[in-house]
Amino acid sequence: MKTILTIAFLTMTNVFYGQVDTRIYDIVDKVSAEKLEYYIQNLVDFGTRNTFSETESDTRGIGAARRWIKGEFETISSSCNDCLDVFFQGETVTPEDGNRIPKAAEVLNVVAVQKGKKYPNSYVIMSGDIDSRASDTQDFTTDAPGANDNATGMAGAMEAARVLSQYEFDHSIVYVGLSGEEQGLYGGQFLAKYAKENDWNIIGIINNDMIGNIEGVDGVIDNRTFRIFSEAHNPTETDRERQMKRFYGGEVDGASRQLARYVYETTKTYMPEMNPMMIYRLDRFGRGGHHKPFNDLGFPGIRIMEAHENYTQQHQDVRVEDGVAYGDVIEHVNFNYVKKLTAVNAINMANLAWAPPAPTEVEIGGIVEPSVRLKWKQQNPEDVKGYKVYWRSTTSPTWDHFRYVENTNEITLEGIVIDNFFFGISSVGKNGHESVVVFPSGILR
Ligand SMILES: [Zn+2]
Repeated sequence: MKTILTIAFLTMTNVFYGQVDTRIYDIVDKVSAEKLEYYIQNLVDFGTRNTFSETESDTRGIGAARRWIKGEFETISSSCNDCLDVFFQGETVTPEDGNRIPKAAEVLNVVAVQKGKKYPNSYVIMSGDIDSRASDTQDFTTDAPGANDNATGMAGAMEAARVLSQYEFDHSIVYVGLSGEEQGLYGGQFLAKYAKENDWNIIGIINNDMIGNIEGVDGVIDNRTFRIFSEAHNPTETDRERQMKRFYGGEVDGASRQLARYVYETTKTYMPEMNPMMIYRLDRFGRGGHHKPFNDLGFPGIRIMEAHENYTQQHQDVRVEDGVAYGDVIEHVNFNYVKKLTAVNAINMANLAWAPPAPTEVEIGGIVEPSVRLKWKQQNPEDVKGYKVYWRSTTSPTWDHFRYVENTNEITLEGIVIDNFFFGISSVGKNGHESVVVFPSGILR
């Protein structure tokens, strides 16, 4: 009798830790380096994918590239009973729109939506870029293979679609090739605007830009480390919200940062051989990426990227100068590394899309008390098994401590002083999957 009880107890504890779903390991294994190479080679073979390049040809230029990507998404969809809704989305840009636009052109994203079964209007997005550039970003005729920047990110989104479309999810997943990146993040702006207009509830966008180079310009070789860039707080926050941070904290706890922590933790759990590096900034120093236009509208979003860049192999005409071979050619792409970072994306999207919606209206109190109180609300509580109430030292980057609770929407943590830690809450589904952690936005008196 005692043995039976012990077994039952172990089974139950395993469920709510959310770390034992073997489907996640299957997803890691299914991502194929060969398939990624196939996608990248095909993209490179279009010669240039500059935003202003040829659109009539079937073999060269941005038009041929985006039609081919759309066709590949449609092929993937035909293997999952048409589970993907594939379409072009975008707008026309003209020279008046910016200083890197030599002529009018259609900036078209290729979007593939896998609708969620329970929360179809709630979206996890993975993006790469279709376009490439030569040394001069307005030069639309010179070859610009853009193998690493950013055929790798584009290929990753296609490969994630191929693998994840074999499963059904509660939330929707969007796989997208964005355009006009090198001209000023236009494709991202257009899709973010479209999402806003269509009232998409975006859990987060995971933008992939350069996920294939393992040898840095300084000679460092590393095929396990990658960077997760995230902005500290929501740029749409009000003055009052900013003022509140001075008194209640939250300087490093915006929604994009919570998404970054989520990706860090999921990777450490399911792919412990990898070294994710959280970088506490929007993007690299003075440089941009396609998650920014989403952040601009208040959507959580991060950038996934290689750890060691090689500047002679990005934004360069293919040439040899003073004995240095310049150019973003496919020979420098490490397909196994692209596979690893694609798997990082895929397992995070699967976890998020299987998890319940995150708690809302999280409130915290405990001023001049030896305990902390938290209270929260939950959409669709019937899908939730319990909650993880997290805390961490104010200087720690990760949620290091938690207490698990069930059948309640409030908790008092006795003996824990509010002043010395930061707190947050996630929802844990009946299937064990966990939402992102939500930082309190209200005060309990
Ligand atoms: Zn670039």
